[in-house]
Amino acid sequence: MFEDKRFFHKIEGMAAAERGPYYERQLRRIIRYAYSNSPALRAKLDGAGVKPSQIKTVRDLERIPITPKDDIRRLQKENPPFGGMVTVPISRLKRIFVSPGPIYDIEARDRNIGEVKAFYALGFRPGDLVMNSFSYHMTRGGWSMDEGLIALGCVVIAAGVGNTELQVQVMHDLKVSGFSGTPSFFMTVIKKAEAMGYDFRRDFALKNAYLSAEPFPPSLRRVFEVDYALNVGETYGTAELGLLGYGCPQKSGMHIPEEILMEIVDPKTGKQLPPGEIGEVVMTSLDKAIPIIRIGTGDLSLYTDEPCPCGRTSHRLVRIAGRVSEVVKVRGMFIQPKEVAELVATLPPISNFQMVVSRSGHRDELAFKLELADNLPDRDALLDELHRKFQDVCRVKIDRIECVPGGTIKDSKKLLDTRTWE
Ligand SMILES: [Zn+2]
Repeated sequence: MFEDKRFFHKIEGMAAAERGPYYERQLRRIIRYAYSNSPALRAKLDGAGVKPSQIKTVRDLERIPITPKDDIRRLQKENPPFGGMVTVPISRLKRIFVSPGPIYDIEARDRNIGEVKAFYALGFRPGDLVMNSFSYHMTRGGWSMDEGLIALGCVVIAAGVGNTELQVQVMHDLKVSGFSGTPSFFMTVIKKAEAMGYDFRRDFALKNAYLSAEPFPPSLRRVFEVDYALNVGETYGTAELGLLGYGCPQKSGMHIPEEILMEIVDPKTGKQLPPGEIGEVVMTSLDKAIPIIRIGTGDLSLYTDEPCPCGRTSHRLVRIAGRVSEVVKVRGMFIQPKEVAELVATLPPISNFQMVVSRSGHRDELAFKLELADNLPDRDALLDELHRKFQDVCRVKIDRIECVPGGTIKDSKKLLDTRTWE
């Protein structure tokens, strides 16, 4: 349980049974408010023939079409500057950012409660000295982390990106204990410290790192955790939509902050999927200043509703499983080639592989071609492990595995889809 309840928002530990009613209250409130105050949302509901009074439960959201994240730019162009999405006058905003796109992005005048929760959950504590290396230039990252850290009671060094040598010096001289930034920049900082003659583990006081805004492969996480003995937190968010998930000491997925309502949906139908099934992350913001309803992130994930021993009762995203645009559906399940490549990388005797999807008698067939190391002592055990791991991750069975001589697989595509739909 939480060792310090002061910084813990009661809401994170609400009884699991209260979560449904909580979200339904929030949803009804935000839909009513947004319909009267956000021209974009009014147009979206009117276009779909949905009345605000018809949205009573989370399930009712399925009536509302999903707006892809990339449409925000189009909406802003048609109706500048904010696409009719912001409900307060520009004079009452706190900050305006320009996200890649370019998209105008706003921050309202209340503090970033999501970030406070996230930093606390990841191990940051009041009084910690934290180097914030997210960019402060035009983008949300630097500022929202800064606000979250200050609200938690940390001391922030507003570093931004770059000046690596200076950042190393400051971290060393001030005995900085926390870092917030991208995984790749963090690695650059560590390597620079080593190039400057420091032993990073011995000469620095760094304990916690909040890393985000970039793909963060498990192999890189292990380097931080094992080689440098750091506590590395996992978070998920996007530049336009902010924080969408944060890890806790259990390191068993990312809790979904209570300021947003998240659905995992079938990207083809927009229907909500149950826990454990991979689908698109669709987000509804419960923020009155910018009430965005059903924005599709284009990211794939799956969630669990199992209780987390940390005491937070929110659902957790198990992992981010790639992009909707890259997946192939096999027997109703999404297969993400990159994710399979990561899985295969944990089985080093496999030197190369390719998946082939075909169709036989109205059934999808999934075959694997494998190139294996020579003189493998126990081939069957390896194949069993591949079968098992693949089913755990993709929730679909491999029909056939064919072992081929090294160098046979010429095509660099990890998944070959040979199905025709005539
Ligand atoms: Zn937890």
